[in-house]
Amino acid sequence: MKKTVSIIGGGPCALMLGAELDHQKYRVRIYEKNNTLGRKFLVAGDGGLNLTHSESPEIFLTRYTPSNFIARAFHHFSNLDFIKWLNNSGIETFVGSSKRVFPKKGIKPIQVLELLAHKVFKNETEVFYKHEWIGFSESKELLFNTAQKQITISSDIVIFCLGGASWPVTGSTGSWLQIFRNLGINVNDFQASNCSYKISWPEGLISSIEGKALKNIITSCNGVKHYGEVVLTRFGIEGSGIYPLGPQIRKQLQEQKEARVFIDLKPSVPIEKIEDKIRNKPTRSSLSSWLAEELKLNKTMISLLKWLLSKDEFLDTEKLAETIKNLPILVSGFGPIEDAISTVGGINLDELNENFELLKRPGIYAIGEMLDYDAPTGGYLLQSCFSMGKYLADYLNKKG
Ligand SMILES: Cc1cc2nc3c(=O)[nH]c(=O)nc-3n(C[C@H](O)[C@H](O)[C@H](O)COP(=O)(O)OP(=O)(O)OC[C@H]3O[C@@H](n4cnc5c(N)ncnc54)[C@H](O)[C@@H]3O)c2cc1C
Repeated sequence: MKKTVSIIGGGPCALMLGAELDHQKYRVRIYEKNNTLGRKFLVAGDGGLNLTHSESPEIFLTRYTPSNFIARAFHHFSNLDFIKWLNNSGIETFVGSSKRVFPKKGIKPIQVLELLAHKVFKNETEVFYKHEWIGFSESKELLFNTAQKQITISSDIVIFCLGGASWPVTGSTGSWLQIFRNLGINVNDFQASNCSYKISWPEGLISSIEGKALKNIITSCNGVKHYGEVVLTRFGIEGSGIYPLGPQIRKQLQEQKEARVFIDLKPSVPIEKIEDKIRNKPTRSSLSSWLAEELKLNKTMISLLKWLLSKDEFLDTEKLAETIKNLPILVSGFGPIEDAISTVGGINLDELNENFELLKRPGIYAIGEMLDYDAPTGGYLLQSCFSMGKYLADYLNKKG
């Protein structure tokens, strides 16, 4: 008789499992509390569905914090394997100028989702909607709330793919955390990641910088640097130029209640050259317009410099050049978890063996964003989910 595999949650991890588990060996069922699959996946597609990144697998792995937990799954099913898998599934991809990988122009996120769902159904995986998992019964069966009543389901193998806690409107509310805690599984509270960071801008400054972008900059925190772009908001700062510094900012916030981020406003020009350019300013030009003209600093950058520096410091060539290369910003907290792209927190990685099986509950597995790891935007989040899903499906197929 076939063993049953119950997959709880219907996001990207579940889609990969549902498509790849061997239905000759297993009776596979997905239980999702919404009435559709992959709602967060569709939200992810709103700003351009960044499926993965095209950089080399060696560099790719370093993007994860920690990275060792995913290495095995990623080597089994890397970004290059994923791109091939997508292409073979009828989802053509292209590499953008940022080296990020997207569905080919004209393919909408809903079409990608439909193609993935098609693979799931073709594989004879059954999907049960409106089934919210609420815990285990006394006899250790899975307990669900359905539209009609509470039901119990027994299963030989259970795979949890319940997601993190950002964008709860998509169904990923993280409400499962307490259930796992009550079971004696070590879990960590959720925190926002790939989110906005709080900065107390003075009222006089905010009106001139709100909504403005700083492009082609390098941000750094604790020695880790990242090239990119950020947007300044009333709340603080956000954007792909600061997301990769999340682990460093989080560490400093935990240890010191505030984090120091530095911005190099002119990464392409060495400090000595900046000093030379400032010194060569003709007497008839104002310093601000000279900075705009010669160094191509925009109004927002100049407003920031004037906010940070006293009048004397602004006129001090060395101090000004140093601040252009190393503008300090004090971060005092995270933006709301509801608005974050992802979360850290969830199941502590020490609770799992190398195959994502719970050490305290053999036969129960957990993958995806419900595990406590961090990754920046850039396709790394979805790649990790698909790598874990494919690895686990192949592992169980071999085992079964
Ligand atoms: C705005 C936004 C943009 C993003 N953009 C990108 C991007 O471009 N590239 C990228 O790589 N990543 C992106 N992500 C992140 C990516 O979408 C997630 O990392 C990924 O969806 C996580 O997959 P998952 O399967 O672990 O969980 P989820 O996708 O969160 O799926 C979990 C599922 O479990 C269901 N569920 C939860 N609790 C229960 C329960 N008790 N019973 C039954 N079902 C339950 C939920 O309804 C949900 O459908 C983005 C995220 C957001 C919010």
